[in-house]
Order: sequence, then structure tokens, then C-alpha cells
Amino acid sequence: MSFTRRQLGGLALGALAARAQQGERKIGYAMVGLGRISMQHLAPGLKASKTARVTALVSGHREKAEKMAAEYGIPAKNIYSYQNYDAIAENKDIDAVYVALPNSMHAEYTIRAAKAGKHVLCEKPMATTVADAQAMIDACRQANRQLMIAYRCQFEPTTLRARELVRSGKLGKIQAIESANGFNIRAGEWRLNMKLAGGGPLMDMGIYSLNACRFLTGEEPANIQASWSVVDGDVRFNEVEENLAWTMKFPSGTVASCNTTYGADMPGFYRVHGSKGIMHVEPAFGYEGLRLMARVQGEPAIDEPNLQKDPLQFTREADHLAESILRGGELRASGEEGMRDMKIMMEIYRACGRRVG
Ligand code: NAD
Repeated sequence: MSFTRRQLGGLALGALAARAQQGERKIGYAMVGLGRISMQHLAPGLKASKTARVTALVSGHREKAEKMAAEYGIPAKNIYSYQNYDAIAENKDIDAVYVALPNSMHAEYTIRAAKAGKHVLCEKPMATTVADAQAMIDACRQANRQLMIAYRCQFEPTTLRARELVRSGKLGKIQAIESANGFNIRAGEWRLNMKLAGGGPLMDMGIYSLNACRFLTGEEPANIQASWSVVDGDVRFNEVEENLAWTMKFPSGTVASCNTTYGADMPGFYRVHGSKGIMHVEPAFGYEGLRLMARVQGEPAIDEPNLQKDPLQFTREADHLAESILRGGELRASGEEGMRDMKIMMEIYRACGRRVG
């Protein structure tokens, strides 16, 4: 018997639902940092989950945490501050933490979680230096805890379908990939502060293009060249780059060219040019509304809008770690995967003179 991808997805969700009915316990997440991504996306994603739920909150704003706790039925004893965070070690309601803080804080809160015996789902970019990323991997390994980086696109059906088209050979030999992702940033954001962000739009938005190129091809890039700029001395960019563009070459010969910005609306997309066809995914990195179009020689055109709604990507991502904690199995988007992006981003910065050594 064979199944379509959609049927397989339905079976997987059915199996989860069946287990939930059998009363299997859900994995409890502590949300660390109650900002946009955690409150507006991951927490609603967990509400819809059959394997995981929010059981604790870690915040510097008690009132905000209390309001959210009331919405999610979280007891007051499970609200922590950054100061008493390490006490999560004694709390059996918490299996894993979700780190959604400014980039340079990811390492500290991941390492403290591992020391408290908790698994970690950490937002991208996993850290701001390779040394911090390695310390996170080491701490989780020593504590025998899972470390997953929140690459939600790797669990998202349009991205998986795009990868299938590329890897199946349907598009022929992949010659070139173009990708871009960016937005026009508001002054005053922590993302413009080098110490907190670790870099400009590459760390935040360009990482989607980088990860997509690697995910689609399954190859690791080399021969990196890059340029960065600030237009008209815009004071928002006294510390981090405004624009960054880079090219990279994969072992198969595929070349990729990518752009990212904090100075303009730059809707996320990727376009893959193969010897037999072309695939264009846009929006490619949004929370919903993704769309894949392809033209393959001699075949009807493909146009597949994705009707799934936010926060399904987040449910899938949180479920993946929960499943891995409950039943073992290989973790996709591991700390090592985050590290590969970190090392390449540092090479990109070196290539454009924004890092030395
Ligand atoms: P945000 O500014 O909305 O939230 C940041 C949170 O950190 C807030 O709760 C804030 O109070 C807290 N915080 C603690 N110390 C802080 C400090 N010194 N300065 C500023 N804030 C501090 O940010 P966000 O958009 O939710 O991003 C958080 C992380 O999530 C980042 O690493 C970002 O790259 C990542 N992110 C991922 C996605 C995704 O789709 N996977 C999307 C957006 C953001």
C-alpha cells in the first residue's frame, strides 16, 4: 500500500491524537522571553499541540507573565524571573525550555537550562559566536539533554516539497539558486545593537536564505564572497550592517547568490534554476501563505499555494522536539545544524571584512 504525502501527514497527526487520547503525558515547555515570537507564534502553536504545552514562563516583566499565565492556565509558582531561572531544575512540570531572547543571550540561557537538566529549543541564530554555539552543544551533551534550533521552515510542507523537487532530479542539474529576505527596521530595536544581535540582517533574516540553500541541496557551501553597505550613512546602522549580499558555491557546482537587508521591504523567496526546470517559492519564509511554483520541461506547470495557517509551523517544530524527548529518534535541526550556519555566517562576515581571524 502506498500513501500520498498528505495522507502520511494525516496518519502522523492521527497517531499523535491517538496517543493523546491514551493519556500519554505532554512535554512541558518553559518559555524564556515573552516577546513577539514566543507570545504570538510559539505559545499559540503549543496550544494546538497534542504532545506539548506551555507549563512555565520566564520573564523580566512579572505583570506580562501573569497575564499570559492566566491565559494558559499556568500556576503562579511556575513564573520565573531571569534571576531565579536556575530554580527550574526543581520543577517537574518543565521538560524543555524555549529560548526566545535577543541573540547574544541564547548561549547563557541554553547552558543554564542544560545545567538544570532541561532540554532546549533555541531560536535562530543559535548564538552570536562559534565559541558560544560550541559551549551550548557541549553543555547539552554533558547534561544528556537535547538541543534543537528553531528552524521552523524545516518542518513546513512547502519547504519539504521544494526539497523533494530539487533532490528528485525533476528540475535537472541545479545550476543556480537566488534567494533574498529582509525588512525595513524600526529605529531602537535590539536587532540594531551589535552586542545583543551579533550582526545585522544576516543573523536575523539572511540566515533563512542560507539555511534554505543548504537544506534544499543537502550540500555545504564554500568559495564565499560577500559585500555589505549602509546607504547615505543612515544612523540606524551605526553598529550593524544595513545591506549584505553574498555568493557561495556548492560541491556539485551549484552557485547561490543571496541578499538581505534591514533597509527595505524584501519579501523572502528562493528561485532554483535547474537544467530541466525552474522552481520559485514566494513567500518562502513567512508564517503562512507560502506558495511554490515550478515549470518543468514537458510537464504541466506546478502552482501549489499552501493553505495552512499560522501557528502550524510552530506546532510542528515544538512537536518534533517533544516527540524526540518522549520516544527518542533523530533530532532534525540539532545544535550541530545551527553550528553549520554559524560557521558559514562567520565566513560571510570575514569575506566582507566585518570579522577578522
Ligand atoms: P522581541 O524583541 O519581540 O522579544 C525579545 C524578548 O527578550 C522580550 O520579551 C524582551 O523583554 C526580552 N529581553 C530580555 N532581555 C532583553 C534585552 N537586554 N534587550 C531586549 N529584550 C530583552 O524579539 P523576537 O522577535 O521575539 O526575537 C527573539 C528571538 O527569536 C531572536 O533570536 C530572533 O532571531 C528569533 N526569531 C525567530 C523567528 C522565527 O520565525 N523562528 C521570528 C522572529 C524572531
